[in-house]
Amino acid sequence: MPAHLGVVGFGAMGSEIALLGACAGLKVTAYDKFPEALETGRSRLTRLLKLLGRDAKFFAADRIADDAARQVVLDAMQTTSDLAELAGCDFVIEAAPELPELKQSLLKELGGIVSDDAVIASNTSSIAISELAAATKNPARVVGMHFFNPPTAMGLVEVIPGSATEEPTVVAAAALAQQLGKKPVRVKDTPGFVVNRVLLAMMTEAIRLAEEGVASVPDIDEAMKLGAGFPMGPFKLADLVGLDVIEHACDSIYRGLNDPKFRPPELLRQHVRDGHLGRKSRQGFYKY
Ligand code: NAD
Repeated sequence: MPAHLGVVGFGAMGSEIALLGACAGLKVTAYDKFPEALETGRSRLTRLLKLLGRDAKFFAADRIADDAARQVVLDAMQTTSDLAELAGCDFVIEAAPELPELKQSLLKELGGIVSDDAVIASNTSSIAISELAAATKNPARVVGMHFFNPPTAMGLVEVIPGSATEEPTVVAAAALAQQLGKKPVRVKDTPGFVVNRVLLAMMTEAIRLAEEGVASVPDIDEAMKLGAGFPMGPFKLADLVGLDVIEHACDSIYRGLNDPKFRPPELLRQHVRDGHLGRKSRQGFYKY
């Protein structure tokens, strides 16, 4: 088990992954290039931790039951805008923006900072792990750990070995996922991994049904809820995730597999062009 977890990128994903680590009793050092992201993230996590303390289903609810206990968790989580402070980490999870060159350069730099046997995991949604690992000096210790949004609520981590990843690295990633209260599922290094490949095939099909006028957007959502037992219809879910994020993920799987099923439908592209990105812009397939 790692003793000291490093997190790179303190945005939506990285900040909550860091919090999971601190809740699991690990010492955590989180790095972000932008000090304001660290500040915003910390105040968001302070509020979130209070809510999680009231959620009996949260894996560490009993460790964050009162203000004093929550303070211990927050104190275990150091934040920094100096990557070199991750030097003592034996496991680092990278959650920086989804830009291949940025991630490669961060992973390469990290490799020169942490010890040779530290594991470096990437939370990438769409970049091949082998491609990221190739930029580092020790690809055997690089692995994908794909968390889902929001990481404190979603129960899964896809664990993705690259072509050079050694077995003990995969085992360590799966063990850490469990330590963070998640179920690890081992997945091959393929575009979209498992969840996004299935989910986006369904979403693009739902959007095409709406384009063809087979049924309305609310009716397709209702049909999938009542007929397939989905907690939320595909359009409501797309609005929640962000239509720009969906478009980017579809494009990336489409390019990776050359499968027209994943080509972003025109209605999706149109919404993104119009700035209708879903809940975050108060309009997507629905108005908010
Ligand atoms: P985000 O934009 O919320 O956070 C990214 C953070 O990285 C920001 O705080 C930003 O300040 C910081 N950053 C920018 N440049 C940096 C640099 N050079 N070094 C270090 N930090 C830098 O993004 P996110 O949604 O948290 O996504 C992060 C990663 O997680 C991406 O690879 C994304 O594909 C993946 N992911 C996202 C989701 C999701 O639904 N948001 C789900 C699974 C995986």
